[in-house]
Amino acid sequence: MRELKKLLQSEIEHAKESKTYKYETPLDSAQGGEVRVGIQPTVMLAANNYLGLADHPQVKRAALKALEQYGNGMASVRFICGTQPLHLELEKAIAEFIGTEDSILFSSCFAANVAFFQAITNESLGYGEWQDVLYSDQLNHASIIDGQRLCRRQNTVKRIYNHRDVGELEQMLAEDAEKPYRVRMIVTDGVFSMEGDMAPLDSLVELAKRYDALLFIDDCHGHGVVGTNGRGAAEACGVLGQVDVITGTLGKALSGSVGGFIGGSRLMVEYLRQKARPYTFSNSIPPAVAAAALASIQLLQRDTWPVEQLRENTDYFRKRVEQLGFATIPGDHPIVPVMLGEASVAMDMSTRLLQHGVYVKGLWYPVVPPGEARLRAQVSAAHTREQLDRALEAFEVVGRELGAI
Ligand SMILES: *Cc1c(COP(=O)(O)O)cnc(C)c1O
Repeated sequence: MRELKKLLQSEIEHAKESKTYKYETPLDSAQGGEVRVGIQPTVMLAANNYLGLADHPQVKRAALKALEQYGNGMASVRFICGTQPLHLELEKAIAEFIGTEDSILFSSCFAANVAFFQAITNESLGYGEWQDVLYSDQLNHASIIDGQRLCRRQNTVKRIYNHRDVGELEQMLAEDAEKPYRVRMIVTDGVFSMEGDMAPLDSLVELAKRYDALLFIDDCHGHGVVGTNGRGAAEACGVLGQVDVITGTLGKALSGSVGGFIGGSRLMVEYLRQKARPYTFSNSIPPAVAAAALASIQLLQRDTWPVEQLRENTDYFRKRVEQLGFATIPGDHPIVPVMLGEASVAMDMSTRLLQHGVYVKGLWYPVVPPGEARLRAQVSAAHTREQLDRALEAFEVVGRELGAI
């Protein structure tokens, strides 16, 4: 144990020295356009609360009602005695919203991604007699990478293509076309979390059809955010209903709490209920959480106002931040990367912005490539114009102080 203690201490020291140690700032309020850090009112530009539903009155009412009616939780996994009508209703609503036949809930999207690949490759019969192949975008989320790590090596070939590089992917698919793989899967984030850019889903749908591959997307940053009705990257790319498997979260735009899901064909979802280990061996989300998510989706189906407000706020913030002289990565996602170059500038700027009442996350190597340190500002429908202006003013003052503009 002495060795272990030494190891842990040296890893922590190393993280602090290399400025990768993660500090957590307690918020003394609900999540929202403005939060309190201690007593300081602070404009929040770091949450995935894209539609402001984390503290929405209608959503909270639904959660309270479900808590009263259905209790705190099920104390069981789904197939033993852990299913309520709310779980079934939510799965139906999610499927309808994201454009798949059916869906299945998980305790998080991380769990959903960890569940999916092993459920297909490891849990099916005939182990050892076949190989599946996965084609994965280089910048896919950590949970996809971990999910793929659980696939048995002898049964799974993993190929990584360059970020959004359809040409390279097609070359790989063509190279492998004659090989006797059992299942071919193209795997990508719908919207990527560091840059807010989108996978070229129209091309990927076409490639998947041509090479008889399954198309899997993780659209955590897309649902509730992109597409005319906020139905995600598939809607934005004009391929709603044509993506085979879509995973997502209830922890971002769709109520900001916790929970995840996999959408797919009825057959796929039926299979996953039998074979997905984080589903069969782990409890589902509690009723209050399910009710809040359901209320969020119903709210969007009645009225796309939050999606439109988000778009308007994003356009405003992007334009103004560029007018101040900051470089951004162009796009229309509410993730607005403000490029600063040096890690030290990004660190100083996020620290000083917090002192000025603006909460925004700095990202630097190794999270992003060296020399591409940035602030990742995230706009919400919950922001008022006054809050955005206050944030922009602070960006101007601090940016000047640090010579960034
Ligand atoms: C946030 C995120 C996840 C994890 O979602 P949780 O529900 O919080 O586990 C997975 N994939 C992507 C792309 C994400 O952005």
